Amino acid sequence: MFVRLNYLKYQLFKILVFLIYPFYCLDVSAGEGLWVPVLLNKYNIEEMQQKGFKLSAEDIYSINHASMKDAVPIFGHGCTGAVISDQGLLLTNYHCGDGQIKSLNNGAHQYLAEGFWAFSRQQELPCPGLSVTFLVRMEDVTKQVLSFVNDQMNEEKRIAIIHAVCSQLEKKAVQGTSYKAEIKPLFKGNNYYLYVTEEYKDIRLVGAPPVSIGKFGGDKDNWVWPRHNADFALFRIYAGKNNQPASYSPENIPFRPAKYFPISLKGVRENDFTMVMGYPGYTDEYLPFAALKQLMEIDNPSKILIRQTKLDVLNAALSKNPQLKAKYADKISNLLNYWKKWSGEIYGIKRMNVLARKREDEKQFTSWVQADSIRNYRYGHILSDYQQYYNELKPYVLAGDYFYEDTYTLDLMNFATMFKPFFSLTELSSKDQVDKAVTNLLANYKTFYKNYDKETDKQLFIKAVTLYRSKVNYGFWPSAFNKIDRQFGGSVKKYVNYLYSTSYLPDSNRLVDFLHTFSVKRLKQFYHDPAIEFYFSLVNLAFQKIYPALDSINLKIDYLNRIYLEALKQMKGDQKLYPDANLTLRLSYGQVRGYKVADAVSYNYFTTLKGMLEKQNDNPAENQVPEKLRKLYWAKDFAPYADKDTMKLCFLADNQTSGGSSGSPVINGEGQLVGLNFDRNWEGTMGDLSFNPDICRNISVDIRYILFIIDKYAGAKNLISEMDIHFR
Ligand code: GLU
Repeated sequence: MFVRLNYLKYQLFKILVFLIYPFYCLDVSAGEGLWVPVLLNKYNIEEMQQKGFKLSAEDIYSINHASMKDAVPIFGHGCTGAVISDQGLLLTNYHCGDGQIKSLNNGAHQYLAEGFWAFSRQQELPCPGLSVTFLVRMEDVTKQVLSFVNDQMNEEKRIAIIHAVCSQLEKKAVQGTSYKAEIKPLFKGNNYYLYVTEEYKDIRLVGAPPVSIGKFGGDKDNWVWPRHNADFALFRIYAGKNNQPASYSPENIPFRPAKYFPISLKGVRENDFTMVMGYPGYTDEYLPFAALKQLMEIDNPSKILIRQTKLDVLNAALSKNPQLKAKYADKISNLLNYWKKWSGEIYGIKRMNVLARKREDEKQFTSWVQADSIRNYRYGHILSDYQQYYNELKPYVLAGDYFYEDTYTLDLMNFATMFKPFFSLTELSSKDQVDKAVTNLLANYKTFYKNYDKETDKQLFIKAVTLYRSKVNYGFWPSAFNKIDRQFGGSVKKYVNYLYSTSYLPDSNRLVDFLHTFSVKRLKQFYHDPAIEFYFSLVNLAFQKIYPALDSINLKIDYLNRIYLEALKQMKGDQKLYPDANLTLRLSYGQVRGYKVADAVSYNYFTTLKGMLEKQNDNPAENQVPEKLRKLYWAKDFAPYADKDTMKLCFLADNQTSGGSSGSPVINGEGQLVGLNFDRNWEGTMGDLSFNPDICRNISVDIRYILFIIDKYAGAKNLISEMDIHFR
């Protein structure tokens, strides 16, 4: 009887575990997680295996033998790449390489418009300034770093000590090598990791589709599903004789990687396991309620309004004068990119009730803290302190947004920063110093006027200043605004007209005259130039009033963040938490999935070439499918890259990604490349703040579409033949 009761209890326990398990998992939900490869734990590996992963943690990261980390470098300074041949062939996103491609344009070729394909190594184009950085190893140095600090220290002292210890450790780690080392905090400074890297600097362009394929759908489609663009470009890493990094030389030879990705032609189906490895740049998953509320009420709405105002001015100017498009297309794209991202965040956070959920989480946290007196002593103040500090932060955040997003980033202010060499001149400066400053500016000033239209720029300036004055408290106005009231009766328009008609900056002829006649005697006149005056009034406001306050409050918040994470780690268990993204190597895993976009509306997980042609029919002006691609479609010349007659283009999965994950390999359970990550869905852009696998999706180009473009569209069989392609 006794035994039987125990048996029943055991059965009951199993049922309970089964029932509770899904809720328990909600802490970190399926698809969620930017896992640190060396910290992959039993829980991760088991979950990955359940979903279809067939390899081991050692296959992902190892310092003893070649592993996937050796095939996933940082591309440039903010993207990821994937090595796909033993000859250093590197795959990344078109939108990561388009700046390079554009800079290679010349009188004979417009590579962005035409695309580019190298049919031999000799045709590959060197990309000066571009680099690719591999992770050699990473190491937990938490103990060494934190052994010199204690809880009694103030934050300034703590930071100074940590900084000093880190630079010593970094130096020691790479002594006698050509590697670089950097120590970065994880879990808000609860842990520190050393990253040793190797940077290759001879990188050459190998192939890119024309913009009509690489960015099909344009800005309208950015952050949006369904997608139909082949967002990829191919580069090659070159090395010196011993496979070591070397500056560009025609003698260099293709880099021989320790590891490259085999490619699968099997494709992906709904629910298939996928993982993404790369360098996500920024997430803030553990924001407290007070911070997220502020972001929803102040930060994002302000930045959205500012960008919307600028976009309205530019769109009005372009509709009057379509020729301005050439000058303003890139500026509009830049404004649109995060304007869309921030509005998506607001949408998602509201739709998924994130604020209410945070409140609930914080209630649970409070109960956990209060259940233990030691915990209560250490952590009991965190949430109320957050509330207090975020209240203190409020006016400075608003002023900071208007300083930076609204005014400091105006083109004329960007131009003013080019005058930096003049700022260090004094009445005593030598003729040599003056000549240097003048020559420097004469050599560079044209880059500003290239994409500048005086009237449009003036309208932007008027709107930006007007908006600032209507939204920001008088106490945070730059001193130049006094002039508007004193000399121009409060008319921003009159003030800006005066600025544009008298300053040297808005007019290239005036500027050149000024530069040719400049001497230190005219320094005073230079500082009284209204654009320079405006620039300094902004800088003074920011660096004397806004940033010092932001910094000192943020220092207190940094401390709270650290102990909040320390507490959460105890409360939830180490295994369930992942550190926020910080441009270090991460792995996320999940499944191929569509999503429910609205009541009664669901999105399928893949798009097709047929859909691309339909999109062109709907909007022939914006979406141009190149003739050759249309012909391939009509001829159904897809083999072996199609699913029967369907040429699949892009697919969705619930892998967590972030800015920086662009160009990351999407890998199947066997470790083969099945796609290239390039974007996220608008409804899920809140993933950086609160990832939710119900609506957060990463968007990838199907690798088969990439191969189809290289093979059938470009005819670059030379590239196909150097890859390791698996048909099954
Ligand atoms: N849409 C973004 C861009 O155009 C990148 C996507 C992401 O951050 O996931 O840069």
